[in-house]
Amino acid sequence: MTDVSKSVSQPVPMLDFSRQFHEIRFEVLNAIEEVCLSQKFILGPQVTSFEQSAATACAVPHAVGCASGTDALWLAMAAANIGSPDPGLNPSRDAVITSPFSFFATVSAILRCGARPVLADIDPATYNLSPAAVEAVLDSPQGASVKAVLPVHLYGQCADWDAFAALKGRHDLLLIEDAAQAFGAAWNGIPAGALGDAAAFSFYPTKNLSAFGDAGLLTTTSASLDDHARILRAHGMRRRYYHEEIGWNSRLDSIQAAILEVKLRYLPRWNQQRRDLAANYDQLFRAAKLTGGTVQDGIVLPFTDPRATHVFHQYVIRAPRRDALRQYLTDLQIGSEIYYPVPLHLQESLAFLGYKAGDFPHSEAAAAEVLALPMYPELREDEQQTVVEAIRAFYA
Ligand SMILES: *Cc1c(COP(=O)(O)O)cnc(C)c1O
Repeated sequence: MTDVSKSVSQPVPMLDFSRQFHEIRFEVLNAIEEVCLSQKFILGPQVTSFEQSAATACAVPHAVGCASGTDALWLAMAAANIGSPDPGLNPSRDAVITSPFSFFATVSAILRCGARPVLADIDPATYNLSPAAVEAVLDSPQGASVKAVLPVHLYGQCADWDAFAALKGRHDLLLIEDAAQAFGAAWNGIPAGALGDAAAFSFYPTKNLSAFGDAGLLTTTSASLDDHARILRAHGMRRRYYHEEIGWNSRLDSIQAAILEVKLRYLPRWNQQRRDLAANYDQLFRAAKLTGGTVQDGIVLPFTDPRATHVFHQYVIRAPRRDALRQYLTDLQIGSEIYYPVPLHLQESLAFLGYKAGDFPHSEAAAAEVLALPMYPELREDEQQTVVEAIRAFYA
């Protein structure tokens, strides 16, 4: 067996969007130039145009551009009147149930709109919020104050929407999607963004649809929610300098919208390339006989629910001796990342929520075992082979 650590293997970056930029360079630069010529830098015609294109792509009537995915989450909940910016107005503290295995913003956005996050564990196969765990909360004494459930479409795979829709049928609650990692994903053919009452997308530069800076979008099927979100993103004013309520500055820049509009046209192909690359990783791991049904037996490959159209924002394995493997890959200049090493209930700043280690065992196991490998549409097959060969050498 060849020892890759001694031979010189090629470096494989975790992400290299410069390859994509070369492909679309002139379209992007032209789009930016148009904004410069128009001098309408904020909420200009490019924003309106991108909102319409994004709404069409998500099969929803309404899309509202905003400053970030974090803001889109906040706007979605605030526009639906969940929580209150003034705790004095809302002593009952509306509760929102979400997953502890997500990016921090999922929970901080709930707090920011004056609501109380209640956590429920994940499904260990998909890493998405478990509908059964959510139902247990809804049936507990806490259930009465729950106004919404906020499933995250983690890594680009939609949460089990059949089950969440059934829960909504039995309980009076809103469903809000954290679709930050899932533009173009679908569940039973219905696009992410069209599944819930509202959804939040992020276009942070590493996301599968990404801006050249911060940007976000809210989608909704509700005309009133759309209207309210538009007011909130512009300091609560409908008529200039008359503030109906306390909003925020969460406007979207025209330059970002213009770039996103260009990229949106390529996204279906890019998402398909991600799926093809994911299938190739699967095949390489199987051929190398590295896989197992559980992390005790070997590498656990990503599971795709047959009802889901996965966009593989990330390709995430569970790996035995994860941290040592990651160090080994880093030494070989092979990129990898841990999304997320600390579940949200164990974050220092969220200690006041009152959770403790052991409360969400599936999330805690995932945080200790997951490893994201290089994944982006322009990743090459020879680079994937390098990654899998290095992992094989580690376990040999
Ligand atoms: C990226 C991300 C966010 C936040 O989006 P920003 O644009 O960075 O504010 C929220 N939730 C999840 C799951 C994310 O991955």
